[in-house]
Amino acid sequence: MDKLRTPHILIIYTGGTIGMIENPETGALENFDFEQFRHYVPELNRFNYHIDALAFDPPIDSSDMEPRYWVKIAHIIADHYASYDGFVLLHGTDTMAYTASALSFMLENLGKPVIITGSQLPIGQLRTDGKENLLTSIEIAAARNAKGEPMVPEVCIFFKSRLMRGNRTTKINAEGFNAFRSYNYPSLAHAGIHLKYDEHLIRRPAPQAPFKPHYLLDNNVLILTLFPGIRQEIVDTMTAVPNIKAIILKTYGSGNAPQKAWLVERIRKIVDKGVIVVNITQCSQGTVEMRRYGTGLQLLQAGVINGYDSTVESMVTKLMFLLGHGYSHEHIKELMQTSIAGEITLTE
Ligand code: ASP
Repeated sequence: MDKLRTPHILIIYTGGTIGMIENPETGALENFDFEQFRHYVPELNRFNYHIDALAFDPPIDSSDMEPRYWVKIAHIIADHYASYDGFVLLHGTDTMAYTASALSFMLENLGKPVIITGSQLPIGQLRTDGKENLLTSIEIAAARNAKGEPMVPEVCIFFKSRLMRGNRTTKINAEGFNAFRSYNYPSLAHAGIHLKYDEHLIRRPAPQAPFKPHYLLDNNVLILTLFPGIRQEIVDTMTAVPNIKAIILKTYGSGNAPQKAWLVERIRKIVDKGVIVVNITQCSQGTVEMRRYGTGLQLLQAGVINGYDSTVESMVTKLMFLLGHGYSHEHIKELMQTSIAGEITLTE
């Protein structure tokens, strides 16, 4: 693609608060169509870029997000990959971190920005945060570095002045404008008077590595959150669900679990049956170190895999991605301990 041509940006509108309007009868927020964006954001016409838009029909509240929609988004990006320099995905905030994580795995060797954003207040409202999020996301999607290459060839979330690696993000606020955080990886850029990029933090595909979209996902995964007093019948019932192929164990602190013989026994049994069991922490920040305490070591000895500093969103979608490819148990275990899209920091 010509590095000097006007940046071509494709906006993909999936739905979410950013494009909603209040139903005068019920007071509930409902989706409106993309054309109304141009009406509410006339600034779109002031960019010196070529901007096109595509919309889900009908748009969806992101609480209705499903793996099949991730496949649909990946197809849209792949189909338009050659014609655009960057993509801006408008999405509800509720499951935005899941979508960002899923796409980071599905779009292998991504060489162009995919910037996901949304808002807490609809774009038609006076105090909306949607305008700034949208306009800055477009600017980031079009940005080039000194060599004329896309500045951020990653799947990212831009929200309230922070650009974050998508598979490191979590929604942390149901009300405030500052709704997303990346606790275990620094922001890739900050938007203030200037857009300041931390270029050394940005991932780039290997030169010559061709962009390779993936469309296979398997949702036979389960999240099991530990809590003091958790009952054996509950763990037994959850882990006995037919066809479960992977269980994400949300443990305490640095990856610790209660020292109950039945729990460790149960985990050992399901691991022996070929189920992947992976350990991530309930803490928002920090990593799993199963050798640090006896309460973690017992899990390691039962065959539990280290999930390091992964978010739950990234872990769920990485497992769906790896299982979807039908890889062998051993290969999945190996890839779980590899950072394939910058989603984990390997430690022990
Ligand atoms: N329920 C909305 C959604 O996720 C919330 C939002 O967009 O902020 O689609």
